[in-house]
Amino acid sequence: MDAYINNRAARQALVIVNAFLLFLHTCMLIFFACTKISLMAYVNIFSVLFYVVGFFLLKYEKTWAYTLATFLEIMIHMFLAVLCVGWDFGFQLYFIGCLAVVFYVDYFSVRLRHHHVKSIGFGAISALVYLASLMVSRYQEPLYPMSSGMTFAGLVVNSVMVFAAIIFFFSILTMLATYYEARLSEQATHDNLTGMVNRYYLVDHLEAISASEDMHRYWIAILDIDDFKGINDKYGHLCGDFALRSMAETIKEVCGDRIVCRWGGEEFVIVGAEDGTDGGHDGAEELLEGIRQKVARTDFRYNDKVTVNMTVTIGLARYHEGQTLDEWLNLADRRLYRGKQSGKNRVVGTD
Ligand code: GH3
Ligand code: MG
Ligand code: MG
Repeated sequence: MDAYINNRAARQALVIVNAFLLFLHTCMLIFFACTKISLMAYVNIFSVLFYVVGFFLLKYEKTWAYTLATFLEIMIHMFLAVLCVGWDFGFQLYFIGCLAVVFYVDYFSVRLRHHHVKSIGFGAISALVYLASLMVSRYQEPLYPMSSGMTFAGLVVNSVMVFAAIIFFFSILTMLATYYEARLSEQATHDNLTGMVNRYYLVDHLEAISASEDMHRYWIAILDIDDFKGINDKYGHLCGDFALRSMAETIKEVCGDRIVCRWGGEEFVIVGAEDGTDGGHDGAEELLEGIRQKVARTDFRYNDKVTVNMTVTIGLARYHEGQTLDEWLNLADRRLYRGKQSGKNRVVGTD
């Protein structure tokens, strides 16, 4: 949904630009008609009609056709404009300005899985047409010479328009890229079902704290829901998902600020640290026992119809000097296994 809204925003940007180009060409049509530069006036009648059609191309998501046609329109229009009123009028600046649009559409077409608009080719053509207009204006006097005041005013207007277009496109491009990057990073580090951090995040986190000197303060616990397969089998997979979400909420409620991760399936890992206020005893057993009891006495109501009861088994391991991350996790896992073997619904913190 979020992506849909953002893709719509990305498309909307093109509609805004089309409206901007329509406005620009209408102004140019009036300007060229008033200054009796008939060639450009005719070109602009065509351009105005083209940008009206542009709205339909965008409406029916013909991004590729729209980009190609707009690009050609800009190239032909601006080349003729430089030929008519000369280099000093600044129409060649649009060749540079349209690069921003082309690179934006390149990124956007990939995101929306439209026909990929390859910006390098368009960029190279822009540069060539820019150089061609430079060459032509060196050897050819403007077809419609203008006063120096008018030429200067034209340069100012064209510069402002081109800067506005570049700033507009690059801000949208930056905004979209930043947004998608944040979303991907969230997806890569969080579990979709429970919203908890995932295994990759936790391993990174544990590696980061294992570099710290007060590592001995830390403990980890692996919590596994007992007979979870039975819940899926009895009430269905959706109810199983509900049970996992409810379990995640219950664990988070008891654990407060501690890091809790969905390790995979119906297993969760909790990371805690003693705060040193109670003589080195960190209360890990009490906390985990609190989770176990809370889960055992809660009736989880699914869809107001089914009552799901669950129990959990938890393996706890404090960090020991010289342990690798794998050894530390394996110790907690071994204790979890012992808890399962000895009847489930318990916390095991020693061998
Ligand atoms: P034990 O007490 O020994 O832990 O038994 P168990 O049934 O909990 O363990 P087992 O490993 O046999 O089954 C785990 C089940 O968890 C099997 C799998 O289908 C289910 N499961 C894993 N991930 C999900 C999920 O995202 N949603 C649902 N609904 N079920 C899941
Ligand atoms: Mg399991
Ligand atoms: Mg289980």
